Amino acid sequence: MAYISTRDKSARVTAAGAIAQGISVEGGLFVPENFPKFQKSDFDKMSLMDYIGRAKYVLGQFLDDFSEEEVDYCVKGAYTGSFDDEQPAPIAKLNGNVNILELWHGPTCAFKDLALQLLPYLLTTSAKKTAKGKKIVILVATSGDTGKAALEGFKDVEGTEIIVFYPSDGVSPMQKLQMDSQKGENVHVCAIRGNFDDAQTGVKVLFTDDEMKKILEENNMEFSSANSINWGRLAPQIVYYVSSYCDMLSNGDDLSNGFNVVVPTGNFGNILAAYYAKKMGVPINKLICASNANNVLTDFINNGTYDRNRKFYTTISPSMDILISSNLERMLFELSGNDDKVVAALQAQLSKEGKYTVSDELKAKIKELFYAGCCDDNATLDTIRDTFNEYGYLCDTHTAVAVNVYNQYEKETGDKRPVLIASTASPYKFAKSVLSAVSDKSADDEFSFVKLLSSITNTAVPAPIAALEDATVRFNDVCDKTQMRETVLECLNIK
Ligand SMILES: *Cc1c(COP(=O)(O)O)cnc(C)c1O
Repeated sequence: MAYISTRDKSARVTAAGAIAQGISVEGGLFVPENFPKFQKSDFDKMSLMDYIGRAKYVLGQFLDDFSEEEVDYCVKGAYTGSFDDEQPAPIAKLNGNVNILELWHGPTCAFKDLALQLLPYLLTTSAKKTAKGKKIVILVATSGDTGKAALEGFKDVEGTEIIVFYPSDGVSPMQKLQMDSQKGENVHVCAIRGNFDDAQTGVKVLFTDDEMKKILEENNMEFSSANSINWGRLAPQIVYYVSSYCDMLSNGDDLSNGFNVVVPTGNFGNILAAYYAKKMGVPINKLICASNANNVLTDFINNGTYDRNRKFYTTISPSMDILISSNLERMLFELSGNDDKVVAALQAQLSKEGKYTVSDELKAKIKELFYAGCCDDNATLDTIRDTFNEYGYLCDTHTAVAVNVYNQYEKETGDKRPVLIASTASPYKFAKSVLSAVSDKSADDEFSFVKLLSSITNTAVPAPIAALEDATVRFNDVCDKTQMRETVLECLNIK
């Protein structure tokens, strides 16, 4: 299977090449040239398998330059012993029709674990084929969830070092503690005086610094990226939509007219994976894109104009506070019939003017596939409270945005098909906000919120969050954004 760039179809690589390289040289994103298509017999077979079996079945299609043993090694390594009850993606029922896909049973309690537990295996296996024994240095700029999930995934992975930069005042107390207490011999964490953009820009500069590249080469190392533009992070997300379909079939849901999927969206990675699953034969009807007050995608899907020139809101669902949804580029490539010229022109316009408008034909295709909606923080809190009171189900702030937008969709369309709502984080990661939705009680430190939430809602605190209370802080370095280069060299012991 060849992977091609969304901005230049003549840039072709293997799966291992796409994963090791991360991004194409001209800035485009790698996508499979053709998608495998599953028949009823495939789903019947997968229905009898556990998650690991299904992941091997789906990913094996995309990793055709990996041997069967390699796929087995990667998938088993990622999904054995790291998720509650060995179930990475269990479904909870709100009522007969509404399924909640809980993607937060991994080591960091957010859905990014499903991809970032696997990525280190994919990356090191790919690098053996393409990078010939060099040590891989993963650089991450994070606003919270990605950094911790990447640290957990890469800790003590042979042949890798991971360095995470986060904005010193831009992450929640729980996220900060999660990162600063990270264990592992090959992990490095550093706060930056500045905001997320400073950290992100600093990392990008290091990636493209020729002298830095030379220094790394002399030390038999090379940089790589763990963010969601890497195909190795997207492919694992397709698996849980296929797996959910198998589970819904086994549960006896009436899927004769398909089902809808709702995804709380930021960078457009998770919902794109659902689209790919649909393309491969999972009978998904509408893809429902849920946004918070940063509703750039809602406007785009409804009007055909993507415009990031707008106010940026800091919300209680911070992982969706984003105005440039990088994976949308892959969707545009699909919907334009793999037209690299169209995509390159739109992306150039986005970086120059901060906006673009798609053709009427493209707009019509988008509207047929997607429904889009948004809600603000107050509506998010109302939804957490209503969902808890009505169903006894406690959801986090991101999931609540999805539930709210699903309610809007159902009211507007009357569509009563079964629905799968992606739940992307444990409510305990955002305990203060979630507590304020269901109770008047308050507290003055993070772990008091957690304990109050548990006693009031009678739900269990996830073990990784409970363990943080006694965790030892290993990292407390803060550096200026101008010192990132020296920090990296220090972490790598290069003088
Ligand atoms: C990253 C994240 C999202 C957004 O996912 P995308 O794939 O970027 O659209 C939603 N919720 C949570 C909790 C996240 O960490």
